Amino acid sequence: MKTIGLIGGMSWESTVLYYQALNRIVKRELGGHHSAKIILYSVDFAEIERPMRDVNWQPVADAMIDAAQRLENAGADVILICTNTVHQVAPDVEVALSIPLLHIADAAADRVKAMGLNRVALLGTAFTMELPFYRERLADLYKLQVLVPDQNDRAFLNSAIFDELVHGVVKEESRTRMKSIIAALVDQGAEGVILGCTELPMIIRPEDSPVPLFDTTQIHAEAAADFALKGHLR
Ligand code: GLU
Repeated sequence: MKTIGLIGGMSWESTVLYYQALNRIVKRELGGHHSAKIILYSVDFAEIERPMRDVNWQPVADAMIDAAQRLENAGADVILICTNTVHQVAPDVEVALSIPLLHIADAAADRVKAMGLNRVALLGTAFTMELPFYRERLADLYKLQVLVPDQNDRAFLNSAIFDELVHGVVKEESRTRMKSIIAALVDQGAEGVILGCTELPMIIRPEDSPVPLFDTTQIHAEAAADFALKGHLR
């Protein structure tokens, strides 16, 4: 079995979900007392969140390259950045490594395409919904049409993520608003919804959406477990 290198702590609330998912998948596939081989580098999220808020990506890239190289040197066979937003700096990390970086948007897009869907809604931080790094990857590499909420709803989602979910706070009123955001996007033609933030599965459940949800935390973990068990990427 290959060893999975996780860059976590962004936030640690969602890194817990990765750890649990990876071990559950390997146990399901191999049985007995099997569990995943994982090396975790968990950052101090404050050191990442502050420059992100200031839209200063260089310190974020530097921190991710440092963490990824430490994981590679420690024996990881693949690297996962356990957040969607920080994939803004994925190209910088990829070129600094000699092992593969498993991109979260690729894992999500593969799953969307496998279901035969073409038009999806994307929910996440304002960075993920607004910057090109995620939307354009889905559109250019996978020919997906990507819908995002309006400006007010994007601002709401961003603050629900950074002020509530990354602190482990799940509010019923936030879930209610997220359900109506999803319903509006489905009315606009979304055939599925990408939960493009690794904390969103803490609050949005399958029953909150009339169309399939793509939980990027679970899907990213599944792609990593698949690599670890088969020894190669898809
Ligand atoms: N974990 C979140 C994501 O998947 C947001 C927090 C962060 O910026 O890392 O985008």
